[in-house]
Amino acid sequence: MKKRVLVTGGAGFLGSHLCERLLGMGNEVICLDNYFTGNKQNIVHLLDNPYFELIRHDVTMPFFIEVDEIYNLACPASPIHYQYNPIKTIKTSVSGAINMLGLAKRTGAKILQASTSEVYGDPQIHPQPESYWGHVNPIGIRACYDEGKRCAETLFMSYHQQNNVRIKLMRIFNTYGPRMDMNDGRVVSNFIVQALRGEDITIYGEGDQTRSFCYVDDNINGMIALMNTGDDFIGPVNIGNPGEFTIAQLADEVIRLTGSKSKIVKQPLPQDDPMQRQPVIDLAREKLGWEPNIHLEEGLIKTIEYFKTQI
Ligand code: NAD
Ligand code: UDP
Repeated sequence: MKKRVLVTGGAGFLGSHLCERLLGMGNEVICLDNYFTGNKQNIVHLLDNPYFELIRHDVTMPFFIEVDEIYNLACPASPIHYQYNPIKTIKTSVSGAINMLGLAKRTGAKILQASTSEVYGDPQIHPQPESYWGHVNPIGIRACYDEGKRCAETLFMSYHQQNNVRIKLMRIFNTYGPRMDMNDGRVVSNFIVQALRGEDITIYGEGDQTRSFCYVDDNINGMIALMNTGDDFIGPVNIGNPGEFTIAQLADEVIRLTGSKSKIVKQPLPQDDPMQRQPVIDLAREKLGWEPNIHLEEGLIKTIEYFKTQI
């Protein structure tokens, strides 16, 4: 059945892949974005599709439309961008959630929140199951994002409990792939662009901090599977690849796969940078029948090919 689907942040990295996939499944897609970190280039190839609609709008402002489903992805995701204007980041997460939940309440639409592994902060439990409450510095430089996303989860639960809004909470772990913005400072895009340009590869700290990297196609499979679960399953559910790598290992892998002559340089570790991160995905396996299929090497090769076309 054709559904009318709203994707906020649809011109961003994950949003553009999601719009493309939803259209491919025969849905009507409305992409809403203020282009803070997104780019028309990411969705320009969809504009010829009569079932695709593009709207410039800021989620901190109310928005009226009739839809069946809402994927709420609007929010800068990279530390340099979400720290650029912390107050705006909080407004995007909190006012944005209130506006989109109000829309879901009025229309009866199902609504999915793109939450994050950052709700676990710098975790003291490893790996992280959904039952872990997290370890977040509420006044640190990452707080605008982490606490904004935590508050958004609280709002989603409250709208669900108080108003029976049909919600889905997805905790996304580091995801990478084509259409990441090459200037947005995230580690995968930074390292690949630096390697392809022959520039120094910048490791923050000693490079012994870990992340678990999920390829974008796996993430989108998980996101859609979560939206399609019955109303009795609301999450939160971790969506990420449990393969855990140190940042130094990632740098070595990028150098190997690009054949780059770049040198590794060390720079100071930013404040509150989580030391380790790895999802427990048992719940996603059980409830969504989902698990990632794309290994880091395969995903990096595809991402490197994309960045070659951009440089
Ligand atoms: P992105 O920065 O590429 O995309 C975010 C999009 O939201 C951009 O197009 C941006 O212009 C738009 N946006 C920002 N503020 C807005 C506002 N006020 N109104 C309307 N649009 C706005 O980032 P992404 O990686 O695609 O992330 C998408 C979502 O997934 C975000 O909510 C992010 O927090 C979440 N997430 C992503 C990751 C990841 O590793 N990629 C990890 C955890 C969570
Ligand atoms: N990082 C790094 N060099 C870079 C960019 C990031 O060493 O050029 C590190 C960063 O300090 C963090 C990890 O890589 O430990 C992941 O950073 P990213 O900004 O991609 O995501 P997040 O910290 O939000 O997981």
